[in-house]
Amino acid sequence: MPNLRIFLPKVIKASIIATSKKYDYIIAGAGLSGLSLAYKIRQISALKDKSILLVDKDKKDKNDRTWSFWSHKPHIFDSILYKEWSQILFANHQFEKTYDIAPYSYKMIRGIDFYEHTLGFLNEAPLTDFVFGDITEISETADETTLTCNGISYTAPTLFKSFTDKIDFSKSNFVWQHFKGWIIKTEEPTFDPNLATFMDFRVEQDGETRFFYVLPKDAHTALVEIAIFSNTIPESSFYDPYLRDYIREYIGCKKYEIIEEELNAIPMTDFNFNPNPSSRIINIGTNGGSVKGSSGYAYKYIQKETDRIVTHITDNKLKQYKPLKNRYKFYDSIFLNAILTNKTSGEKVFGHLFKKLSPQLIFKFLDEEATFFDDLKVFTAPPTLPFTKALIEEVFKSK
Ligand SMILES: Cc1cc2nc3c(=O)[nH]c(=O)nc-3n(C[C@H](O)[C@H](O)[C@H](O)COP(=O)(O)OP(=O)(O)OC[C@H]3O[C@@H](n4cnc5c(N)ncnc54)[C@H](O)[C@@H]3O)c2cc1C
Repeated sequence: MPNLRIFLPKVIKASIIATSKKYDYIIAGAGLSGLSLAYKIRQISALKDKSILLVDKDKKDKNDRTWSFWSHKPHIFDSILYKEWSQILFANHQFEKTYDIAPYSYKMIRGIDFYEHTLGFLNEAPLTDFVFGDITEISETADETTLTCNGISYTAPTLFKSFTDKIDFSKSNFVWQHFKGWIIKTEEPTFDPNLATFMDFRVEQDGETRFFYVLPKDAHTALVEIAIFSNTIPESSFYDPYLRDYIREYIGCKKYEIIEEELNAIPMTDFNFNPNPSSRIINIGTNGGSVKGSSGYAYKYIQKETDRIVTHITDNKLKQYKPLKNRYKFYDSIFLNAILTNKTSGEKVFGHLFKKLSPQLIFKFLDEEATFFDDLKVFTAPPTLPFTKALIEEVFKSK
């Protein structure tokens, strides 16, 4: 259970603010990227005199998501890891294989643990305020930005915005990755606590990309989740028969209790999110384009992004901050094109990758840290024709 005493952040009293209050930084949206950024700024003693305001309409007191990611390095939020696995399983209709992933491990952080940890720390930090409420306006002049919430204005020279306005994705490759997961508790010992099912495509694909993942906490408890790439997001009840069938057929369990549920969607797109809409507003997180277009993973990209922003702040170079541009954005476009136009399928692509390459190489590639030679191995593992066609289309596409 979350420790609500520590967790509930100190909220500034709106009544004592005259007309507006000035800060050095306003962070609009205190989710993964907003809280990571505030937490990291507060770790730097040279920035201890900088005031920060965080604003969110949600109290972040629920376990609304779990983040999984692979890593081979110590990581700033390692102390709140819920679990890590040294082995992963990949399966599709052709094969099933377990891999040792050292020096990597696959890690999981529960949203509630992250919110409690970061808000608990920020709550004690000086010059750090929170406002709960719906942000109704963000504006700027040449000198400052203004955020309005609960009818009150707050100003700062720089504002980080971590939520998206309505976006027209129609000119981009775009698909929703939507999912529903159950944390189940089984009567009998059922799971290998050291083995995470990374992707299991043994589910009717129905012309889409559909897979399960299973993240066990112990022999009796696991998150079992189905992820689907499609243009529309169905009702919550749509996923239930798939979850029930998978738990019965592949986990081999009849008696279990559902103790938590998660349901949500992430945009997978090569849409050109504009991280710097102006010199004073910097978009971050999903809104800054940090969700990887071809996988939907965002946790590590958001950590890299917030690290870079903090370095720019400490180096007094925030005005020059630009997100990293690299060849992987183009690779994501090729992947999305190939999947969305049915040149190939997610099951086939990932099946070929896991059949022919090590997970370590696949992780390195997905981390955007591979060499050009590694890229060639990845591109030539699946049949190359669908990707060659997609590449040609993307090169000639006017975006
Ligand atoms: C259920 C789920 C599971 C995921 N699992 C993984 C995973 O396993 N691995 C991975 O790498 N990625 C995962 N992701 C993707 C990604 O890591 C998350 O979406 C991540 O939370 C994105 O961080 P963010 O800061 O961009 O957005 P958020 O964390 O959503 O933060 C945005 C904040 O803005 C606030 N907000 C929005 N509008 C307003 C407004 N008008 N006024 C005030 N506040 C507002 C929201 O309340 C929210 O707190 C998952 C996403 C979801 C939804």
